[in-house]
Order: sequence, then C-alpha cells, then structure tokens
Amino acid sequence: MIVPVRCFTCGNLVADKYAEFQQRVKAGEDPKKILDSLGLKRYCCRRIMITSMDIVDQLMPYNEAQYRRHSEFSTERS
Ligand SMILES: [Zn+2]
Repeated sequence: MIVPVRCFTCGNLVADKYAEFQQRVKAGEDPKKILDSLGLKRYCCRRIMITSMDIVDQLMPYNEAQYRRHSEFSTERS
C-alpha cells in the first residue's frame, strides 16, 4: 500500500530509491539493470522494489466515505 521505508528483512533503506526505480521502469529500462545500478544487491531488498505498489491515492476515497458515514451515524444518534 505505502512504499516501505526500509527493507523488512535486512533494514536497508529502500524508500529513497523507489521513485527513481518506478520512473525508469516506466521509461522501458530493464528492472534488473536498474536494481543493480541503484546498489540493491540483496534479493530481499530487490523483492520489495519489484512487488510494492503505491495505492494510497486509490484508497483515499474509501477512507473519506467511511469518515462521512461515521459523521452521519453520530448525528443520527444524538
Ligand atoms: Zn533487504
């Protein structure tokens, strides 16, 4: 959902490399070469870069709807 700041397994900082990785993948570069050039050698860190998806913007409408519904429910009760 949110890009992890650090690798879950080894604790290496990965969040600072995510934007560049995504940009270069969209440009058509080979992900293997990008990960190598970013200095991500361990497969635990490489896994996070490949499998993470930033979907916070897609989920925000549901959170706002839930907040609105909670507000309506609170006014109905009082
Ligand atoms: Zn790692």
